[in-house]
Amino acid sequence: MLLLKNEKLRSMYRTHTCGELRSTNINQEITLAGWVQTIRKFGSITFIDLRDRYGITQLLIGEELNALLNENPLGREFVLQVKGIVSERSSKNANIPTGDIEIKVKSFSVLNKSITPPFTVQDDTDGGDDLRMKFRYLDLRRNEVKKNLELRYSVNRAARNYLHENNFMDIETPFLIKSTPEGARDFVVPSRMNAGQFYALPQSPQTFKQLLMVSGYDRYYQIVKCFRDEDLRADRQPEFTQIDCEMSFVEQEDILNMFEGMIKSIFKQVKGIDYAEKVGRMTWEDAMWNYGNDKPDIRFDMKIANLKSAFKKDGEIIATGELINGAGFGVFDNAETVVAIAVPNCSEYTRKQIDELTDWVKRPQVGMNGMVNIKCNVDGSFKSSVDKFYDEEKLKAIASFANAKAGDLILILAGTEERTRKAISDLRLELGQRLGFRKKDELKLLWVLDFPLFEYAEEDNRWVARHHPFTAPKPDHISVMIDNDPLIENAAEYLKHPYANIKANAYDMVLNGNEIGGGSIRIFQRELQEKMFTALGMSKEEALHKFGFLLGAFEYGAPPHGGIAFGFDRLCSILGGSESIRDFIAFPKNNSGRDVMLDAPSTIDEKQLKELSIQLNVQ
Ligand code: ASP
Repeated sequence: MLLLKNEKLRSMYRTHTCGELRSTNINQEITLAGWVQTIRKFGSITFIDLRDRYGITQLLIGEELNALLNENPLGREFVLQVKGIVSERSSKNANIPTGDIEIKVKSFSVLNKSITPPFTVQDDTDGGDDLRMKFRYLDLRRNEVKKNLELRYSVNRAARNYLHENNFMDIETPFLIKSTPEGARDFVVPSRMNAGQFYALPQSPQTFKQLLMVSGYDRYYQIVKCFRDEDLRADRQPEFTQIDCEMSFVEQEDILNMFEGMIKSIFKQVKGIDYAEKVGRMTWEDAMWNYGNDKPDIRFDMKIANLKSAFKKDGEIIATGELINGAGFGVFDNAETVVAIAVPNCSEYTRKQIDELTDWVKRPQVGMNGMVNIKCNVDGSFKSSVDKFYDEEKLKAIASFANAKAGDLILILAGTEERTRKAISDLRLELGQRLGFRKKDELKLLWVLDFPLFEYAEEDNRWVARHHPFTAPKPDHISVMIDNDPLIENAAEYLKHPYANIKANAYDMVLNGNEIGGGSIRIFQRELQEKMFTALGMSKEEALHKFGFLLGAFEYGAPPHGGIAFGFDRLCSILGGSESIRDFIAFPKNNSGRDVMLDAPSTIDEKQLKELSIQLNVQ
């Protein structure tokens, strides 16, 4: 990816880059500067691969320069400037763009030396993960990593282009703000000048972007760092980047269209992909019911069949179960939830294969006690691990309910609602992966809509905001929120509380089973926002202390508004075909949240602590 025309990359040090010379340049006198990637000696001549950001060019140092070479022995990663003539190579290398030529070196100078690098800086490196993280500045010289950062930059530019064309304005919001944890923990920063007081780093610019709407900047965006002190799960970064956006005078439909447009435009600009079809939409309930999670991977079907469930849909607790209840099979009879998937064309799985899958669902991460299977044989007969309880007729009925055809293998899990639903969803994804249904190069977008506004927090027997406290309820659910007391009298029956049915004016964008963005239409009236804080168990004083500025702003003509934020690192990793967001961050933290290159976090001096009026009580 060249940003400037080649000639603009010329300087006092070089006439060309290491990626640009071709056979059309033969006989030209040029100067290159770069890093020594490899040195190969053949008798009295030496070949060097010289690397810079743009590529690799082969240098040929002939006998006449041997004396100079002996005086200046070269090594890997030395920084070199060479002057020479572009010549045709005798053995061409079709694998690199400069492979037809080499430079017959006339003179060279070592601009800087390098000690022996801890790993080889090339595509197939011998450096392990930890070593490469510790010497990230060397790892960043490698093509693989460079390609990822280039992709990141092009996604950044594509997003900016689109947003700029649509009148969005990039406005910076502060990093030193007030701690108002809701959801994740805040990272805090002690204030020297205000002893005993702390700033927090923003988990997102949420309240600021809403204030900007109050101020009349009707289309805002920022590609911005966010900080969340969460327990680290694999592939989470304590600091990460969002494409953060907000708009005024819009409804949900406007936002969906605008940002569907943005993602499609990014696909087009970055990958040349025309994503012509309208992005599908699915309600949260349908996602949970059919796929067992709120970010379904719809690149493949294998929908879940709910043979028996306590799932709440359309405000009703749905109870299926006629098919399986009463056969005397305790595992199904006593389970809250029994769910099945039909795995296409796998009826001939061997005992060993099924045992292996059973072990897979029994792993602590999935946590099932066992798995039932029904083989829908190609000849139309059925064979199951529960033949004792279910006759052919019943198995046939279950198969038809599970949408299985002859040749499919039905896998059934039973247990408590939440765990079983998650387990079948994990199993579906795992099989989708193993059977090659989750193709890396297929991009499938989906909007998930109509989330519940509240989630029940068992520990405190109260409601928490599923998205965040600024999300508006669906217009016709506002009165349910206003008219009802949020208090949950009977914890066991929280699902019957009217608040359990309130749907949010919120949306998530899902790409290949990953949530890449999420947002909502916001509350913009003080009374409703106050009611929301009360619903979340905040006293009036607490709400004022934490969010008085926002409540105050809502009294000065806040326009209707809404927005969304995209996980920029994740978006890049998916577009780069990688599982890991770390690969797309120049200087990432490791899985324990440490920067191993800087060795941070670290202790600080007594003196610094004193200035900050902090006394530690850790040894
Ligand atoms: N600020 C929200 C988040 O970080 C996104 C939004 O509602 O716009 O998830």
